[in-house]
Amino acid sequence: MEPEAILSLTKDITGRKRSPSNYSTISFYPPHALLPKLVDQDPNRSITEWSQVNAILRSTQNLPIALYTHVGYCNAGCTYCTIPRTRGRIDSIQESMEPYLQGSITDFRLWAEVFPGQNVVAIYTGGGTPSLMSSSQLEQYYEDMITILNIDTDRTEITFEASPDTITEKHLIILKSLGIKRMSMGVQSFDDTVLKGIGRGTLNNKGLLRTIAMCLRYIDNLDIDIMIALPYQDISSLEKTLKVAVKSGVASISLYQLRMGGSNAPVRRLYNGDHKLFPTAEEAFNMHLYARDLLRELSFHEINDNFFIVPGRGGNRYAKHVWNNGTLVGVGGSFNYNYIHPDEGDPMAYISSSSEGDANSYRGRDSLKPYGIVLTKDDIMRRTVIMGLKTSGRDNPDGGINITAFYNEFGIGICQVFGKEIGTLVNAKFLEIQNGYLRFTRIGLGIYPEALTMFYPQYYRDLLGESTTGRGTYEGGAAGSDQI
Ligand code: SF4
Repeated sequence: MEPEAILSLTKDITGRKRSPSNYSTISFYPPHALLPKLVDQDPNRSITEWSQVNAILRSTQNLPIALYTHVGYCNAGCTYCTIPRTRGRIDSIQESMEPYLQGSITDFRLWAEVFPGQNVVAIYTGGGTPSLMSSSQLEQYYEDMITILNIDTDRTEITFEASPDTITEKHLIILKSLGIKRMSMGVQSFDDTVLKGIGRGTLNNKGLLRTIAMCLRYIDNLDIDIMIALPYQDISSLEKTLKVAVKSGVASISLYQLRMGGSNAPVRRLYNGDHKLFPTAEEAFNMHLYARDLLRELSFHEINDNFFIVPGRGGNRYAKHVWNNGTLVGVGGSFNYNYIHPDEGDPMAYISSSSEGDANSYRGRDSLKPYGIVLTKDDIMRRTVIMGLKTSGRDNPDGGINITAFYNEFGIGICQVFGKEIGTLVNAKFLEIQNGYLRFTRIGLGIYPEALTMFYPQYYRDLLGESTTGRGTYEGGAAGSDQI
């Protein structure tokens, strides 16, 4: 089927019309944008006190846990960026982030009190740009984190997110000496024209390759981000970028589709000024499919729609844990998605620890504001399907939903609960059943954000302001949000 026909069928089934201005993704369920509305609407399920969080956490003592820590500062001006962050020059940022880092360390103590001895399987430090920390700040931050939380770095995978413009050899020496074994770096493209078009950093493709080589001398499990649907990008530019990326020796590649953010985002203004600078939705769909097939041809394994690894080298325990409904807690401004999943059945809590948002407003323990809902069995079934189906990569043997495991966990068959949605997607050849697993097909994985919203309950769709018939025109996620 041609991309035009696939996107038209997707719109007919899901009510979502894809356009370059409304690409979306689904990272979590329930969607972040809905949390305030859910809390307001259902006071019986809402969580606003630490005592409620602690009560739930007490039952998680033996469960694996993942930790996200956010360093929300940046010196760059990528035109597509939607991440809450404080901007400034490197020297002034390093000074102004000091109280923030101290606040984060206070929060490590808070979490250590709540789950002493917890089995932390993975930690991910994202941003912003964590590599903006000076080398002494970086050393202090991780030394304190590791000591306070009692982390064994041979057992816990720690990922450090870096920008190629700010990572230095000194940083890398410290990371290696502390036992940090994974890094993620935003490269986006190796095409200099495309890089310029998105206001991306100061390095050209040669500079990027030198930085990658430097990182690989210290960290073997290096992941780089590559973006699709960028202005000035066509399929041949993408092909060259992917071939260079593979040749550079990285352990994994994360593919992202451009998302434009709010009406003031520079990339959206560029799009509004001249649509023709951007690939159409159909061309972008085709680029994504092409990229996935090419990476497999080049011996990478497809884990889900956007994550591709060199077998045996490019693991990501943090993501795997989240996809499998694992307990996730966080530290830092803008972090807003703690899932706390106790030992037995309900409840599962979904908590925002810092509803204030950006880094400026975050000052450690005093600013932590538990704010969340207790998830019902219905929520957890939907979350299991939505997060599980995302992992339907063609080389991911555990990907998709294990139909028997779903029955054993919930005491009801998946088709009894979601028969209509599954039937529609199977008929469209977007979903298939293979060896006892429900999975997206090769084509279906390309339209997963639209398809997965079929598993939202109707009242979520109503709260997101969407068509109730499934046949309306969808023009974006929740107001101001590109994550649905
Ligand atoms: S480097 Fe990252 S955080 Fe900074 S502007 Fe670019 S995308 Fe945003």
